[in-house]
Amino acid sequence: MVLKVTKILAFQTLSGIYSAREFVWWYNGHPDYSSLKPDLTSSDTAVILGQGNVALDVARILLRPTTELASTDIARHALSALEESSIRKVFLVGRRGPVQAALTAKELREVLGIKNMHIRIKETDLSVTPADEEEMKNSRIRKRIYELLSKAAAAAGTSESDPDQRELHFVFFRQPDRFLESNERKGHVSGVNLEKTILESAGSGKQLAVGTGEFEDLNCSLVLKAIGYKSVPINGLPFDHKKGVVPNVRGRVVSQPVEGLSQTERGLYVCGWLKRGPVGIIATNLYCAEETVGSISEDIEEGVFTSSKEGSKGLMQLLEKREVKKVDFSGWEKVDAKEKQMGSERNKPREKLVTWDDLLAAAAAN
Ligand code: NAP
Repeated sequence: MVLKVTKILAFQTLSGIYSAREFVWWYNGHPDYSSLKPDLTSSDTAVILGQGNVALDVARILLRPTTELASTDIARHALSALEESSIRKVFLVGRRGPVQAALTAKELREVLGIKNMHIRIKETDLSVTPADEEEMKNSRIRKRIYELLSKAAAAAGTSESDPDQRELHFVFFRQPDRFLESNERKGHVSGVNLEKTILESAGSGKQLAVGTGEFEDLNCSLVLKAIGYKSVPINGLPFDHKKGVVPNVRGRVVSQPVEGLSQTERGLYVCGWLKRGPVGIIATNLYCAEETVGSISEDIEEGVFTSSKEGSKGLMQLLEKREVKKVDFSGWEKVDAKEKQMGSERNKPREKLVTWDDLLAAAAAN
């Protein structure tokens, strides 16, 4: 099973612009990104492009009080940087409307519940068209998200403002056109130029954003791009470029159809985003993996595997032959135990090891 996924990257020449993936890996202590040093101190404003759950995750990290983050498993370098952060306003920019925001209710409620935070949504953005009504009629989740956003907007309208308060602005019907460069700090982003959009029917109840040719700037010193993911093909593996998935039937990889019939590649399986596209919460992945494992079990029972391959023993021999540095499950358990022990000393569920050397040393410890 191969799960190589990459973020869609637009042009990224100015500093201060990051993909959400880089930012998430930074605050989660991924060894390749622990030295990212995102700019959190040049202004009070960050712009997040996209209105999916990853955008929400990132907004939450920027806006949640660090006293609360301190007792989570956030990486220590990220907590220190966030303690110094001057970001107080976060703009979540979506090219469609509140009915189409790609959010789920639990994740939205968590963000709306952040202490001492104002929600800002333009009242005009909350008006719905008959096509929006139809979308909500066909999707309980879309209706729920719209209701939560409307309620949050109404509550914000009546609360008193506090200059120290953090603000989360939901900006709808805007698509990014280009990044703006700072005059004072050459090479650094100073904002995003946004094009206003309207929705047009794309058939079967779907509405797509269309640019109106009207533009406006949104100033900021930090941009995070959270516009979804796309899997990339692996040499020699069938790949559906349009859908960004490895074609499969219940996890069994399918090669080119012959005379309309799907031919499965014997002994080759896929699961996760590479199997069904970059959507779904953790539970979705559990069911997805279960289905693939079910297919493998059925094939074993039905004697699909006729050759006598060596299994994990053969894999280990191959890795050794190729001199691949590997950590087995007992090594992983040692890393897990070490991180939990370090965390318990700081009242956290775990303290992440954030360099490859530290991780490999922990995995090899007696
Ligand atoms: P996503 O759900 O696909 O959302 C992507 C967002 O970016 C949408 O608002 C989309 O707008 C927008 N977008 C895409 N292309 C764009 C473009 N060219 N210009 C402007 N906007 C663009 O992606 P994601 O947030 O990365 O999440 C991926 C999956 O992981 C989702 O299924 C999500 O629910 C899941 N996830 C779950 C959790 C959790 O369970 N707690 C946490 C994080 C992520 P359109 O709708 O108009 O395309």
